[in-house]
Amino acid sequence: RAKSAGGNRFELADPEADARAITRHGLTTALPTALERGEFFIEYQPLVHLGDGSVRGAEALVRWLHPQHGVLGPDRFIPLAEHTGLIVPLGRWVLEESVRQAREWRELHGGAEALGPLRINVNLSPCQLTHPGLVQDTVDILERAGVEPHALCLEVTESALIGADDDLLKPLRRLAEMGVDIALDDFGTGYSNLANLRRLPVSILKLDRSFTQSMQQFPADPVDLKIVEGIVSLAHSLDLAVTVEGVETGAQAEQLRTLGCDTAQGWYYARPGPPERLHELALVDATG
Ligand code: C2E
Ligand code: MG
Ligand code: MG
Ligand code: MG
Repeated sequence: RAKSAGGNRFELADPEADARAITRHGLTTALPTALERGEFFIEYQPLVHLGDGSVRGAEALVRWLHPQHGVLGPDRFIPLAEHTGLIVPLGRWVLEESVRQAREWRELHGGAEALGPLRINVNLSPCQLTHPGLVQDTVDILERAGVEPHALCLEVTESALIGADDDLLKPLRRLAEMGVDIALDDFGTGYSNLANLRRLPVSILKLDRSFTQSMQQFPADPVDLKIVEGIVSLAHSLDLAVTVEGVETGAQAEQLRTLGCDTAQGWYYARPGPPERLHELALVDATG
């Protein structure tokens, strides 16, 4: 880390990078105890139907309430957890907690007939995909909570499935056969291989935020419009639903609705928040 600056003087090559490395090291070693001590919590962000504006479910987004650093977002610690393997128990905890939450919403809503079962979306990292316990853990978690597989959607990034062989796809296929939805997250950012889509046990495309952002300008970039239009029509012809991420304005929502997208998620509707908030939003929505 230190480089010689001539003579006997030593200088830090990059003090900020060093500070980051120290924090990274500190966070990495603190991860296992954080899980034991219950320092992780989940925020839920509603998924809204673009046609009628109703709340159809929520994505579970994990956060870490660190005793010194305060609330840390997943980008700060998920890569570290993936590196050390802690992502497997952490991911299992997120799944268990979110499915339990989905069950609770259902009970709270009781007689709200207009409200179909709220669906829960949970992110899976590539390491969880290759972990042999994935299918059984998921089955157990759903059974214990009394939640049917159709209420669960697992989000996998496109990049995790690039070049995936059959062994990697097998657990996802089994989950899909059980009725769990599989969504391709951040779609359009990687080397999207559209032909490859047919091979994947996926039923939802989550169009990356970068597309939504390009709908911000008015008029939107005509090439981006064409691309989104093309993706939507291909998706629908393959029986896939399209969800859009990062909708921040009503104009974006309207544009994406016109382009045929099915569901949306973003700050325009709600920021990620505590489970009570999702419950309120869904209930208001169902009762008028
Ligand atoms: P993602 O799955 O693509 O989740 C969407 C991200 O976009 C979330 O960031 C969300 O807070 C943010 N977002 C939502 N609406 C808007 C908007 O209108 N504008 C903008 N600018 N951003 C918006 P977050 O919560 O920081 O999560 C980042 C990523 O961390 C997620 O991206 C996901 O890949 C990963 N992640 C989160 N929770 C988990 C988890 O439990 N397990 C795993 N493996 N990964 C997770
Ligand atoms: Mg996601
Ligand atoms: Mg995403
Ligand atoms: Mg994303």
